Amino acid sequence: MSNNINDFIEALEAKTPGEREFHQAVQEVVESIWEVYQRNPRYQKAKILERMVEPERVIMFRVPWIDDQGEVQINRGYRVEFNSALGPYKGGLRFHPTVTLSILKFLGFEQTFKNSLTTLPMGGGKGGSDFSPKGKTDNEIMRFCQSFMTELQRHIGPNTDVPAGDIGVGGREIGYLFGQYKRIRNEFTGVLTGKGLAWGGSLIRPEATGFGAVYFVHHMLENLGKDIAGHTFSVSGFGNVAWGAISKINELGGKVVTISGPDGYVYDPDGIKDEKVEYLLELRATNNDIVEPYAQEFNVEFFSDRKPWEVPVDIAIPCATQNEVDLDDAKLLVQNGCFLLAEASNMGCTADAVEYLIENLHYAPGKAVNAGGVAVSGLEMTQNSQRLNWTREEVDKRLHIIMREIHDTCVKHGKNGSRINYVKGANVGGFVKVADAMLAQGVV
Ligand code: GLU
Repeated sequence: MSNNINDFIEALEAKTPGEREFHQAVQEVVESIWEVYQRNPRYQKAKILERMVEPERVIMFRVPWIDDQGEVQINRGYRVEFNSALGPYKGGLRFHPTVTLSILKFLGFEQTFKNSLTTLPMGGGKGGSDFSPKGKTDNEIMRFCQSFMTELQRHIGPNTDVPAGDIGVGGREIGYLFGQYKRIRNEFTGVLTGKGLAWGGSLIRPEATGFGAVYFVHHMLENLGKDIAGHTFSVSGFGNVAWGAISKINELGGKVVTISGPDGYVYDPDGIKDEKVEYLLELRATNNDIVEPYAQEFNVEFFSDRKPWEVPVDIAIPCATQNEVDLDDAKLLVQNGCFLLAEASNMGCTADAVEYLIENLHYAPGKAVNAGGVAVSGLEMTQNSQRLNWTREEVDKRLHIIMREIHDTCVKHGKNGSRINYVKGANVGGFVKVADAMLAQGVV
């Protein structure tokens, strides 16, 4: 057993060389829970932390497919089954050229605590591929998904491991993956979430991550005696999460002035609202992964190769990918009057940015803020087990209750005088439940 955090992290780095993102995610959690861990000899004796950082299983496989020109393409597929103490492995699939084992291990590790926070019975997992959907035709995407599922189907099941979407995997991809699973296994079952409404999907699932993030921000603001209405927001990304968040912010009277893509950001001072929000869906469906066409369509400014964090706003909600806000971005946001940052992306801020933000504004981490997506996935699993579909109101009401409970958990474990350390609150709240379940289940 390591006596201090540095020894623990050094041992982890020696065992998992080069897995930078994974080390970053573990370090943040370990720093938050170290005090609780030291106070609890039962956790130490059972080596709970040492076991938690080792995925229960990692599956890596070849994904061969044929493109429209008849050429053979080879990608790498993964599923990291991280922790099943609380339920079947649960977490998304990411299709993006930046996908590596380190990225999926960081995401699977985070997912374990996020899922624990939702209060639903779900373990943590993550998977995906270095496949880039950018510029691919529908047929190519279908062939890739079929090849990916031909291997993955051996390892998953409604009581074992239930994947869903993430970056690059939306309703269309889930459809192709589900179709291939059903064909091979001859089973119509809730093995994936994010399904279409007519074949086992849940209402609100596409909007859930964005809606949930805004509900969480609502509770953060409430705690400060403030409200969403009248505030200006910057959002990054232009995918599913950004779309859901922008819709909800508009509904609650806020104004969103930015969206972004890998090509740069768009500044729309009148606010991204009405038909402009629906246009985001069109833009995404083109598979080009650029946001600039929005600026042309609505005659607003586009800033090539720049990040939206330079625009003065009250509240920032990163909705794109990991480490999208660095220390300089964080300083600029604060300098320009931003008083709250809530990550809707997973690990949206670098470690030094997080440290700075905790001191200088009200900051909440992805594993709490974006848990609404997987929470509604959990509700989709419940509906599949019941063979029932709930109404939009029912799902939305439950989502809101879950986000409020996550906020309460963060307050309970993170309150420090008049301030709330949401990082500590989320990590300790998520950790204790998983740790206690692992203790109860013995050395497995
Ligand atoms: N990919 C989402 C996340 O990061 C959703 C996962 C799911 O629904 O299983 O939490």
